[in-house]
Amino acid sequence: MKHRIFFALLLNILMAPVLAAQQSLDALVDRELPQLVSTYKMLHAAPELSHYEAKTSAFVAQQLRALGYTVTESIGKYDQPDWKGYGVVAIMKNGDGPTVWVRSELDALPVEEKTGLPYASTVKTKNDAGQETGVMHACGHDVHMTSLLGTAKLLSQIKDRWRGTLIFIAQPAEETIDGAKAMLADGLYTRFPKPNFVLALHDSADVEAGKITYFPGYAMASSTSVDLIIRGLGGHGARPEATKDPIVMASETILALQTIVSREKSPLDPAVITVGSIHGGTKRNVIPDEVTLQLTIRTYKEEVRQQILASIERIAKGIAMAAGVPEDRAPILKIIENETGPSTFNDPQLSERIAAAIARTIGTDNVIKAQPLMVSEDFGRLSLDHQIPAFMFWLGAVDPAKVEASRTSGKPLPSLHSSLFEPLPEPTLRTGVRAMTAAVLELMSATRP
Ligand SMILES: [Zn+2]
Ligand SMILES: [Zn+2]
Repeated sequence: MKHRIFFALLLNILMAPVLAAQQSLDALVDRELPQLVSTYKMLHAAPELSHYEAKTSAFVAQQLRALGYTVTESIGKYDQPDWKGYGVVAIMKNGDGPTVWVRSELDALPVEEKTGLPYASTVKTKNDAGQETGVMHACGHDVHMTSLLGTAKLLSQIKDRWRGTLIFIAQPAEETIDGAKAMLADGLYTRFPKPNFVLALHDSADVEAGKITYFPGYAMASSTSVDLIIRGLGGHGARPEATKDPIVMASETILALQTIVSREKSPLDPAVITVGSIHGGTKRNVIPDEVTLQLTIRTYKEEVRQQILASIERIAKGIAMAAGVPEDRAPILKIIENETGPSTFNDPQLSERIAAAIARTIGTDNVIKAQPLMVSEDFGRLSLDHQIPAFMFWLGAVDPAKVEASRTSGKPLPSLHSSLFEPLPEPTLRTGVRAMTAAVLELMSATRP
């Protein structure tokens, strides 16, 4: 018994500085919170589409510069020469130690906001096709930017508690998954110190504000955009015998493609093949020359992705051959490289280490292991094919009362990308800053030997 009391006392004495440090950190977050909420509302009301993040990027750069970071702007080279790279890199060197990168996105979506919030976006713009569209931070990248700015401010105020090179990056064009690629193509890892660790957070549209969730290992899928052009021989709709009908071949192909996931690959390797668009023909009585299918393919593993692409080509060619289409009219499979991104692999050891550090800050009950998803993100590119340990966690962003109501009623909450998605600013940003600051301190702590 005596021993137990002694150890409890000892633990209290040992933990006292840790608790005091945590309390002082929380006080700093609380002090910054009103300013962060107003920054968030300002960013929310002024969203910009992917490849056009000029003002958002300039704002983030100016804020980071004011905090004492060395800031470089206009990073990013796209294949499309009209697009300017709006990437931002902000560096703070603070003695010897690891190089840690923290990333946020800058871009918003072509969605007309319908939340009715006082700070809702009313922005309208023209998309690349020249059509007018509403613009909204429907994926919550405004939450990410504000959390990044809050974390950057806090860490600039407690430089005695960390050592190393801290780098914040604000990445454009995540929604089109070509922003990280464009920044890397512009020398992200040669012009600036290469990271030992890369971190990011993404808000979640079904987790309560105040909590975070994470998944070690493959957490999000790779996304491959494919056009499959099925070519036949067109002619009169009343004389099918004189044609090779690509509409019939396209229909057979679409059904056969679903057997790749169910019959050709291991059930233990998740994958999705979705034909999201089918276009062919102009008139009821004309058999067209070709039909174009637009596909998205999702996998975790690269070898599964390669297997699926080969299977799609084999099946499409086989169906064309069976229909008697000549060799020179065989189907064409085109991978749309600038709409293709890798899977997100959370380094398992890093994930558990950071999750434990966040749990010590926001409470064990508020850190939950979640399920992986088949949606995609281009954060994985920053890990250079798993060479650099990377970790992205989900930041709960929904009013807890709404999560509870949805659980009881069974009515789903508005998802990410919905015109009704409505993050609850205050507890979300507070948790975002506390969690990301804890993550960085875990990796860069000045007291660690
Ligand atoms: Zn998104
Ligand atoms: Zn997003």
